[in-house]
Amino acid sequence: MKTQVAIIGAGPAGLLLSQRLDLEGVDNIVLESQSREHVLSRIRAGVLEWGSVEVLRESGVGDRMNAEGHLHDGTDIVWSGTNRLTLNTRVYADRPMMAYGQTNITEDLYAARDAAGQPIVHEVEEVVLHDLESTPSVTFSKNGRVERIDCEFVAGCDGFHGVSRSSIPPTQRREFEKVYPFGWLGILSETPPIDEIVYANSERGFALCSQRNPMLSRYYVQCALDTNLDDWPDDRFWEELKARFPSEIADSIITGPSIEKSIAPLRSYVSEPMRWGRLFLAGDAAHIVPPTGAKGLNLAISDVFYLARALSRFFNHHDDRYLESYSDMALRRVWGAARFSWWLTLLLHRFPDQGPFDLRAQEQELDYLSTSEAYMRSVCEQYAGLPFES
Ligand SMILES: Cc1cc2nc3c(=O)[nH]c(=O)nc-3n(C[C@H](O)[C@H](O)[C@H](O)COP(=O)(O)OP(=O)(O)OC[C@H]3O[C@@H](n4cnc5c(N)ncnc54)[C@H](O)[C@@H]3O)c2cc1C
Repeated sequence: MKTQVAIIGAGPAGLLLSQRLDLEGVDNIVLESQSREHVLSRIRAGVLEWGSVEVLRESGVGDRMNAEGHLHDGTDIVWSGTNRLTLNTRVYADRPMMAYGQTNITEDLYAARDAAGQPIVHEVEEVVLHDLESTPSVTFSKNGRVERIDCEFVAGCDGFHGVSRSSIPPTQRREFEKVYPFGWLGILSETPPIDEIVYANSERGFALCSQRNPMLSRYYVQCALDTNLDDWPDDRFWEELKARFPSEIADSIITGPSIEKSIAPLRSYVSEPMRWGRLFLAGDAAHIVPPTGAKGLNLAISDVFYLARALSRFFNHHDDRYLESYSDMALRRVWGAARFSWWLTLLLHRFPDQGPFDLRAQEQELDYLSTSEAYMRSVCEQYAGLPFES
């Protein structure tokens, strides 16, 4: 097989890159290690920055999001019992947010790839990237047969555990990492969400009420890393969630059987640079942020925005300027989101080694945020997503 760009991974980054390259007339093949059913069964992020909404619309996959996505003005934070503030991005950053599930985005992208007649090669094994500094190729096995793709570039969109990042020699990259001493125990339930997205900094730990669509709610509570899911039947989860919110919010939570329950450890991680030779990394392949700032999916979309533009300029205008600047440009936005997600995680969680001084400092910062318009504008600008560079 021969193509211009071999894309490794059919998560949101790989599928969106394939879609955008196709719209620009750049030939590509997507390889995915899982089955299509598995990819579409994953339930993950769901809060979109307005920049992401616009990228999805201009990629021709905005129709269902426009019809079914839930526009909201921002997110509330409650702390110290009854204190409450709103990160109102429409007021303080001139743009709303959109609640629309990652699973729906993936479905929309698959539908677009199907409509374009561009099959994705699923259930590939033993993916190996070759000659990334000269004339790249990718080998993989499918149904026991070894196949080979010759290409001009490889896009590593294969998530945190993929092969792309580790194909870069360790001497050529630098890793930055922060691991947090807790995780999030999350459930998904087919119940109407409460009206707002609300974070709680409670003495029992962090909690979050979020949403995916009008009949799908996502809730989380901070938990110890050694938490066992078997110890958390639905009733216990609902009781703990409600105990972390003031009664007017707790009373409005509609409970029901969970359809998914999982524990996610929290981690901040960035690998630099996001390019080596003819390999370009995008999305979780290059960076992970704790979900507190709702940035993981949004970063995957912004990386792809930069990378698709760079590849299109190269193939359609023989201009490699954007390819040369891709890593620096993408990393500026990545670090903005990594810093913001780290800061919000520190502000809203209870840490095992926190003393009375740290707790007062958290309270003071939340009080300051609720009374200072200057601080609120700065936080909302970052929560709503920094602009893309032209
Ligand atoms: C449980 C969970 C909850 C999350 N919640 C949130 C949230 O609330 N808010 C938020 O913003 N973000 C959240 N995230 C993060 C967000 O989902 C990711 O940032 C996003 O999926 C990144 O997209 P991606 O395409 O870069 O990577 P992925 O979605 O990981 O896609 C990578 C793809 O590559 C495939 N792959 C891996 N190895 C290979 C290989 N060798 N060959 C071929 N294919 C391969 C994988 O199967 C996968 O399909 C969550 C993540 C998880 C895991």
